[in-house]
Amino acid sequence: MEKKPFLTLEQVQEIVKTHPTPFHIYDEKAIRENARKVKAAFAWNPSFKEYFAVKATPNPRLVQLLHEEGFGCDCSSYTELQLSRACGITGHDIMFSSNVTPDEDFKLASDLDAIINFDDITHLDYYDKVGQWKETMSCRFNPGGDFVLENEIMDTPQEAKYGMTREQLIEAFKYMKAKGVKHFGIHAFLASNTVANEYYPALARILFKLAVEVRKETGVHIAFINLSGGVGIPYKPWQEPNDIMAIGEGVRRAYEEVLAPAGMDDIAIYTEMGRFILGPYGALVARCIHHKHTYKEYAGLDACAANLMRPAMYGAYHHITILGKEDALHDRTYDVTGGLCENNDKFAIDRNLPRIDIGDYVYIHDTGAHGFSMGYNYNGKLRSAELLLREDGSVELIRRAETPRDYFATLDFTGLFDDIR
Ligand SMILES: *Cc1c(COP(=O)(O)O)cnc(C)c1O
Repeated sequence: MEKKPFLTLEQVQEIVKTHPTPFHIYDEKAIRENARKVKAAFAWNPSFKEYFAVKATPNPRLVQLLHEEGFGCDCSSYTELQLSRACGITGHDIMFSSNVTPDEDFKLASDLDAIINFDDITHLDYYDKVGQWKETMSCRFNPGGDFVLENEIMDTPQEAKYGMTREQLIEAFKYMKAKGVKHFGIHAFLASNTVANEYYPALARILFKLAVEVRKETGVHIAFINLSGGVGIPYKPWQEPNDIMAIGEGVRRAYEEVLAPAGMDDIAIYTEMGRFILGPYGALVARCIHHKHTYKEYAGLDACAANLMRPAMYGAYHHITILGKEDALHDRTYDVTGGLCENNDKFAIDRNLPRIDIGDYVYIHDTGAHGFSMGYNYNGKLRSAELLLREDGSVELIRRAETPRDYFATLDFTGLFDDIR
């Protein structure tokens, strides 16, 4: 799929008059269109709900925007719960899918009446001491082994720290039933960033079959199946994007074939997508501030891995467009780098690009999820601003950039940094 920026050079030249680079920017129009497509894809299931994975892009403005489209929040920590509450999102609009959960997190999730999705059977006794048993609760399943799709190993659940074995899940449901839980959910996340329309349908089939068996063995009411996240996006221009309508239809077919014959067609389908919801609709915009010619050609940016960790952490590909040179010949080869004292701080290695001049604006695609949120402060680098490109073309600051004062804030009790802005 051709990668096109949602901003032109002229727009960026205008934006930087108020908001200097680097910044992450999100495209409201595309976000809303995509959200509506997701809902349409699962409209066959009247209780369908997407719980946006807050960790992917924990910006209240975006979380509220998605809430306006009918999405809830998937939280996994105390502060993510607080963020949801601050957005006015509470109760069954929150799915709490955490692991290695501290007791104060469980307590807050309980107080907010969130749907709690237990990662482990040992958490039940733990929760019993800090939270209240609710009518609707959930457990996370891990089938072990490899997750294979069309003869290809997509991921290795047996190596994943998440979820319970089948036996544990059954035992957990019995325990919860004895505590008064009436409606049960089953959740699993078996493969990440799948660019394959078959992922959700295959996962759904596994969980639907399990649901039928669990009901037989325990007699509990299964109220929902949570397909979690993992629906991917085409980071690379030669990848085919997922077709969410085909994905929804695949899940529907599994539903008709497995759940309907068992008389379990009141089950709600829930999802917790992050990447698919925002990934393509955010970009990191930076400026080239240095050239370096040694054994390779380097273009150095005013952004670094602290603004976008995925290339350094996973060797992930992020497409790059030099704004204003969209159609220029890609006749140069660069390592595009940030300024961390870490050699893996490279947004791209040996990338064919047009000639990059000092001052050129560099548009790094697909940073809308797991981009800003994975940021950190190594080398004293500061987190960037986040901007929203509104449907009317205006630009709204939805998070200001950090200042040195923010960086020193946790030390400030000495007064030593009082003069720093
Ligand atoms: C990270 C995560 C998600 C979202 O994953 P994406 O790949 O962004 O769709 C959903 N649920 C849980 C429990 C997660 O940890």
